[in-house]
Amino acid sequence: MAHSYARAWLWRAAAPCALPVFAGLTVLLIPLAVIGAHEASTPTASSGCSIGGTGATVAGIELDAVQMGHAQTIADVAAARGLDAYAATVALATAYQESRIRMLANDGSSLELTGEQAAVTATSLQYPHDGRGSDHDSVNTFQQRWLAGWGTVAELMDPVYAAEAFYARLVEVPNWQTIALTQAAQAVQVSAAGGAYARWAPLAQELTAMLWPTAQAAAAPAGAAPAVCPGLPVAAGAWIRPTAGTVTSGYGSRGGTLHAGVDIAGPRNTPVYAAADGTVLRAECTSDYCDRDGSLSLAGYGNLVDLGHGNGVTTRYGHLSAYTVTAGQHVAAGTLVGFQGSTGNSTGVHLHFEVRQDGAPVDPVPWLADRGVDLRALDAG
Ligand SMILES: [Zn+2]
Repeated sequence: MAHSYARAWLWRAAAPCALPVFAGLTVLLIPLAVIGAHEASTPTASSGCSIGGTGATVAGIELDAVQMGHAQTIADVAAARGLDAYAATVALATAYQESRIRMLANDGSSLELTGEQAAVTATSLQYPHDGRGSDHDSVNTFQQRWLAGWGTVAELMDPVYAAEAFYARLVEVPNWQTIALTQAAQAVQVSAAGGAYARWAPLAQELTAMLWPTAQAAAAPAGAAPAVCPGLPVAAGAWIRPTAGTVTSGYGSRGGTLHAGVDIAGPRNTPVYAAADGTVLRAECTSDYCDRDGSLSLAGYGNLVDLGHGNGVTTRYGHLSAYTVTAGQHVAAGTLVGFQGSTGNSTGVHLHFEVRQDGAPVDPVPWLADRGVDLRALDAG
């Protein structure tokens, strides 16, 4: 039994095989938005529970799953550097002002750029992004500029690097912990947009309060308990997208054999949730080993969770880095069942998700679409 719940969920966007990381995340919001109407008075999450990866309303501002994921990264990097929570607050206010906490590529169309500079800037489009801007050579959540020495375009398009770069400059600002947030942010950003940062201080403070416990848990030595939400609030009877990420491989024939499910790829250890109410039929390692990543020469689903939903319908969650349920347990839609990994017959971090009717696989994309969940809803542009 190779599962280890102690494996903290870190929002590590830099995982090499998680290329289409952020594109598909907002789809998680669809079921949440639906239930919002029913459970408007229910708090989104306790402060000790990670909500990175699901949307939330913070200080009156609606943030979607993509924004919350980036916000968690920004907090995680501060905690990992041993900075105090105020550093995350300054960074979050800055990122909201600069990009609304979205990973922006840049098409290089600014007239300020030479042709050569434009071409280099436009290479940012090759990296995962949530949208595009065109301000000079600015990219990413903080709108950092490669021409101003912040790093290469490739580096700047890594959300972890972007946060690292921000903090590296922040700690060089004299008295950054005691001067006004706006002054600190302005000193880092060398921006004329002075007062604008202060406007987002309440948002940034509340966000920090929500994300900091998880950031600290992630930064703690191995073995510390992670603070991942045990479940999402989902209306009874509803189906939901089981995990954040992008569909990287669909259902169908693949080199003569049936790919019996759909692959959804997000960062390593992205939470995986029960797609509907059900019972755990099994939760176990189905390969020769599951304590580390598998390969194409290893058979099996790795760490696998199967859920039964009644009427002959089952769902299957493969290649998990770890699972958090046991056979026989009843789960509600939205219950955490494990984390995205690459155990078993797998070459990169993803969730292999199947839907079966009386044991026979069906294409999960139309299946979920019929139930109001569009796995392919988003292609960032
Ligand atoms: Zn698959």
